[in-house]
Amino acid sequence: MNNKKPALRIGIIGGGISGVALALGLCRHSHLQVQLFESAPAFGEVGAGVSFGPNAVCAIAGLGLGETYLHVADRTPEPWEDVWFEWRRGSDASYLGATITPGVGQSSVHRADFLDALAAQLPEGITQFGKRATQVDQQSDELKVLFDDGTEYPCDLLIGADGIKSALRNHVLEGQGLAPQAPRFSGTCAYRGMVDSLHLREAFRVHGIDEHLVDVPQMYLGLDGHILTFPVRNGRIINVVAFISDRSQPEPTWPADAPWVREVSQREMLDAFAGWGDAARAVLECIPTPTIWALHDLVELPGYVHGRVVLIGDAAHAMLPHQGAGAGQGLEDAYFLARLLGDTRTDAGNLAELLEAYDNLRRPRACRVQRTSLETGELYELRDPIVGANEQLLGEVLATRFDWLWNHDLDADLTEARARLGWEPRSRGALRQG
Ligand code: FAD
Repeated sequence: MNNKKPALRIGIIGGGISGVALALGLCRHSHLQVQLFESAPAFGEVGAGVSFGPNAVCAIAGLGLGETYLHVADRTPEPWEDVWFEWRRGSDASYLGATITPGVGQSSVHRADFLDALAAQLPEGITQFGKRATQVDQQSDELKVLFDDGTEYPCDLLIGADGIKSALRNHVLEGQGLAPQAPRFSGTCAYRGMVDSLHLREAFRVHGIDEHLVDVPQMYLGLDGHILTFPVRNGRIINVVAFISDRSQPEPTWPADAPWVREVSQREMLDAFAGWGDAARAVLECIPTPTIWALHDLVELPGYVHGRVVLIGDAAHAMLPHQGAGAGQGLEDAYFLARLLGDTRTDAGNLAELLEAYDNLRRPRACRVQRTSLETGELYELRDPIVGANEQLLGEVLATRFDWLWNHDLDADLTEARARLGWEPRSRGALRQG
């Protein structure tokens, strides 16, 4: 007689960083049968940089992807290897302070390089492209996801990693009797570009600006705007994001039919930063064809789980990019779920408890990261109600502001989750409210 339990069928919707990382974390376990569905015809990330704090780097390593990451990742060059960002006044690039991340510095990758490196490790047959999920059908004993090509996939667990415009989010919210949620426009737009570092070096030489500002990540701060630069691809390319905010409306809206991303002229971008200093403008002058992004985020959701459907990554907690933490939170979700689902004690019988532990332990932290990301934008743009334009205080606050985010102990959360599942005794002092 064969007593082996049937493998748990897990469908992951969305092949961005969160979905692919989770698929990789799950696919090596024989008690799990994983299928990843991506609406696009292939994996694709935008040609831009993304940086990861120590917490995200830990989650990547915990997923067994540390070497892959190191292969494509950049760090701040020596002797500034521990610098996350230097903070400078936008009008003249005066130094305001620095944030130090010992052992990590500014750890970043070119997005497409990273996603390609991850996707290359997915086993054959796990991914299906051109599959846009449109609906979830969840009855008491049956769960299936429906695609726009008329096909469906029955599974035991469905994971929505389908980004900020998630098709699964409202199924979860409505299932909990909650109002549906759509992304909200922040009032901030970001101009983006990738600059050849030799080009920027030359531009800085012409303006007599210290080339240190090419090699070390910089954040130029001003009223209702800020510009960040950091090197990627071994310092050959400088990733630039220039943010500009309109705070005249308490609840800004973005036209429903307008694209969130479009190409703009360099003139438009330079006009938005008229009055900024030489260094800031020299950076922008190196971007002949910028794109502009209308930045949206989500309200803090009251739940990430309904039945056997669970949200991760931007589908659950899309946030503003001001702490460089959105993808990192998706990676924390992936690590957390991979560790629990990958445990052979997981089966259909304890799935509900497992998902409850995920919701109780991950959601408060992700919501706090969402909230503080928004507040950090206010701080950078001299609108924090306490700090305002007090530069000394700004430097002091920024030096330690991110410590709680970066130094979080995700393994302690996992220990707590295992205790809630009755898998391990709860360690003394680790009792948490759920
Ligand atoms: P996504 O990357 O959005 O992936 C979702 C995937 O699902 C896509 O491939 C999509 O095609 C697919 N999909 C969508 N709908 C469906 C469907 N119905 N069916 C099937 N597939 C579907 N984060 C950081 O950690 N560090 C940074 O430095 C950083 N910088 C940022 C800068 C900017 C300007 C912005 C806008 C964001 C930044 N972020 C950063 C945030 C980060 O980009 C996101 O948090 C992260 O990419 C989200 O990954 P995801 O996999 O959850 O979602």
